Amino acid sequence: MAGGDGRLSHELIPGEKGPQDSCGVFGVWAPGEEVARLTYFGLYALQHRGQEAAGIATSDGESILVYKDTGLVSQVFDDQALESLSGHLAVGHARYATAGGRAWHNAQPTLGPTATGTVALAHNGNLTNVHELLDIVSERSGTDLSGDLGKGSSTDTAVITHLLGTEPPSDGGLGDAAMAVLPLLRGAFSLVFMDEHTLYAARDPHGIRPLVLGRLPSGWAVASETAALDIVGATFVREVEPGELLAVDADGLRSSRFALADPKGCIFEYVYLARPDTTIAGRPVNSARTEMGRVLAREAPAEADLVIPTPDSGTPAAIGYAQASGLPFAQGLVKNAYVGRTFIQPTQTIRQLGIRLKLNPMREVIAGKRLVVVDDSIVRGNTQRALVRMLREAGAAEVHVRISSPPVKWPCYYGIDFATRAELIANGMSVEQIRDSLGADSLGYISVDGMVEATAIAPDRLCTACFTGAYPVPHEDASLTPVVSA
Ligand code: SF4
Repeated sequence: MAGGDGRLSHELIPGEKGPQDSCGVFGVWAPGEEVARLTYFGLYALQHRGQEAAGIATSDGESILVYKDTGLVSQVFDDQALESLSGHLAVGHARYATAGGRAWHNAQPTLGPTATGTVALAHNGNLTNVHELLDIVSERSGTDLSGDLGKGSSTDTAVITHLLGTEPPSDGGLGDAAMAVLPLLRGAFSLVFMDEHTLYAARDPHGIRPLVLGRLPSGWAVASETAALDIVGATFVREVEPGELLAVDADGLRSSRFALADPKGCIFEYVYLARPDTTIAGRPVNSARTEMGRVLAREAPAEADLVIPTPDSGTPAAIGYAQASGLPFAQGLVKNAYVGRTFIQPTQTIRQLGIRLKLNPMREVIAGKRLVVVDDSIVRGNTQRALVRMLREAGAAEVHVRISSPPVKWPCYYGIDFATRAELIANGMSVEQIRDSLGADSLGYISVDGMVEATAIAPDRLCTACFTGAYPVPHEDASLTPVVSA
């Protein structure tokens, strides 16, 4: 999979967005290497985590340069831009922005002054106590900043940068400031940041978003996913531990603990968000997805002739479903690989083709067949509804939809933007009502227990809140009320 376009199954209809991660982060300390170029390729491997802005900051030990803009990594940077970013350490960011937050000033890394120099910071996740933190920032600066900082989707990152910038000077510099600030933060944060000399990486005590450490021949790299280490030739060393702050510079690698670890890794990383060639907490994502398909086949069997995936994110689960059910697997849909995310709006005529802009059915494979169509999740249901219609038009005798995650009923407060609660199709609808709305012959979801079992991670070390409503970290949304379960 190369970037977000490879995960098409939630992005098949023009204007219809799937679950969006709030970013990919990458950092490198490697004297003698072209760190901006390494960061570029690291971000390129993390493009699926954020496609709306990208940025890189580098330092040569004297000063920090930053280059960032809206667009895909490949659109933001060219050779000239990378040439201008000299130095031996760098941090980078690929951003997903919520509506209205696409502006340049929301792109990361953020830059800010500190008592001992400058901080450049990139953040993946979402803080749950931003208002509390804004009060601290306002108190320290003597002015009410909630109006300025409180705007936009980059609030939490700006707040962290301000907090680091307003820590008093100390011999330990930015590292000391981070040890004072990190315990104040709640929610999900996988951070990479740096001053002129030192690269830092920190992960929240629950380790909700992934963050890993790799070794380069002449230095170190940190990245949201192991796949980004692979692409720059770094060897995976270990995860950045929940509650850990790492520092890397000429004095080597140092680890400090700012909180006790209480792991609650996001299960949706295994379902959909992470690349299949990434490993999280020792479990390869592809293996987890394939196993989810096997469990799904046992829990929701179907009388059918053929199993087909919704490409690409449904593919591992469809393979698992076929293995466990004994039904043949086939590619019944061809993806238009180069029609990816584009800033060019389709014409009205093309928009009306909807899903066909990105997928085309193979009639000779599916005509007359009873199909099991496997997808990783249903958010709004618009994609699956269009898909079922298209398969019927192409001659499918029956369409049985199978989903390798349970119904998404709750919002995520830790960095994933699914949809508003009112838009979630499973919000207040039974499985039978959803089936009817999709126009499928049958609909089956994996159970929560089955999904958790497939990850091979202990249930008490996972967040499953968007499926269960059991939030491992308190959040500030007082309006939350339980959704009627299906
Ligand atoms: Fe992941 Fe869902 Fe938890 Fe958000 S609520 S962190 S998407 S499992």
